[in-house]
Amino acid sequence: MGLDEYMALCLGDRQDGYYPQAGRLGPRGDFITSPEISQMFGELLGLWLALWWQSSGSPAPLPVVELGPGNGVMMADMRRAARAVPAFAEALVPLFYETSPALRAEQRKHHPDAQFIDRLVDAPKAPVAFVGNEFLDALPVQQFTFHDGRWLQRLVGHEDGVLRPVIDPHGPDAAALLADRVPDTPPKEGDILEVAIAAEGVIAEVAAHIKSHGGVALFIDYGSAAAKDYGSSLQAIAAHQRVDPFADPGNADVTAHVPFARLATVAERAGVKVAPVLTQGAFLMRMGLGARAQALTEASPADASKLGRVVHRLTAPDEMGELFKVIALVPSAMPLPPVFQDVANERKGA
Ligand code: SAH
Repeated sequence: MGLDEYMALCLGDRQDGYYPQAGRLGPRGDFITSPEISQMFGELLGLWLALWWQSSGSPAPLPVVELGPGNGVMMADMRRAARAVPAFAEALVPLFYETSPALRAEQRKHHPDAQFIDRLVDAPKAPVAFVGNEFLDALPVQQFTFHDGRWLQRLVGHEDGVLRPVIDPHGPDAAALLADRVPDTPPKEGDILEVAIAAEGVIAEVAAHIKSHGGVALFIDYGSAAAKDYGSSLQAIAAHQRVDPFADPGNADVTAHVPFARLATVAERAGVKVAPVLTQGAFLMRMGLGARAQALTEASPADASKLGRVVHRLTAPDEMGELFKVIALVPSAMPLPPVFQDVANERKGA
């Protein structure tokens, strides 16, 4: 099977897949995400959305579609922060896009009023805000290996009961499919190209919705903002440790880095405006993470060192601050959303 099919089964299989099994996310699970690290993360996203809403004609109701909401904590923190702008809190209607039944149940606990959509095209035909943290990295990727002057799809095969990536030397050449993805440096034998086939599809759908109906999208994830390069970014995590993605399918979180530059191109081709990709550290600090942590510290001095650690973890370059990026989409006729507009202005002035 293709690597993309393998990834989809590992993560999504109803019986044995990773996300359908309960208790995978969070400190006691396999990995911990920003909303699970601190409530400040979701709160700042809620404030960002409120600012965007106020500057975009205050559409009401405003469906907020969260893609891959995990335990549902980010939406809870967003909604709490949204109360700073009561009319926005009133307008916000949470909609969840989630495949795992176990996680849907978890999300319902935090949000008894939650509604779910099975397909993105089922989002209301009106301005919608799409948000997702560590969602795109969980979507299947395809890989291709350069062999004998041809691009061959990487498949998952098995030998003596051990799974491993293989190629079919007689398989079709994918050169045409990869035409505009090959970097300027010509490939060498054995070079790998990765295609975030499913993430590109999601971005194209979200962009099409925003183009037709208005709204905004904000995705946060780990990955590169540089133009595409060769290499595989496939990885797997279990119990907070890196493991072999082929060793124990269904029991590890198998993901890939998100190719932000490529996703920006996909969104632009679908007819929306893409804000400059920011690092998570820059985005959160500009949204006032430092000041928020300071205020919480003053209210509760005993938590000072814990809050300091949290800010460091979310923003420091050697932690999540630079590897994690933020991408935002708006309709082409609208100004860039809050924070991104300031950065664009500064870059223009610089
Ligand atoms: N956003 C959460 C969870 C990230 S884990 C957080 O930051 O903590 C990835 C999430 O995406 C899980 O909720 C998983 O079940 C969901 N997911 C993965 N693939 C999906 C798909 N194809 N469609 C919908 N949801 C998916």
